[in-house]
Amino acid sequence: MNYCERCHVAVQGEQCPVCGQSKVRPVRGDDYCFLVEKEDMWAQLLQEILEDNGVHPISHDSMDVVWVMRGGELSRQCIYVPFCHLELARELMQAAFPEEV
Ligand SMILES: [Zn+2]
Repeated sequence: MNYCERCHVAVQGEQCPVCGQSKVRPVRGDDYCFLVEKEDMWAQLLQEILEDNGVHPISHDSMDVVWVMRGGELSRQCIYVPFCHLELARELMQAAFPEEV
């Protein structure tokens, strides 16, 4: 597994599929990897689930995406977890949001 520092994603192979950058490096256990982007409400719920299971996510507001629904604006958050917890985080997310697998 490699890691793109620009996109904060764990990638297979020598090139980042998100930005196309080929300067990926081997991933470390404490690298924060992109998990998912969700609306605030669900992002908070997911963070609580992760923390309950010993995974400490970071999130920041997604500045470039504004989700417009029913005339209102919902802000979205990107959630990142350490690579060493990425698999567990994905399993927890699947359990919490099975319809999105
Ligand atoms: Zn990238």
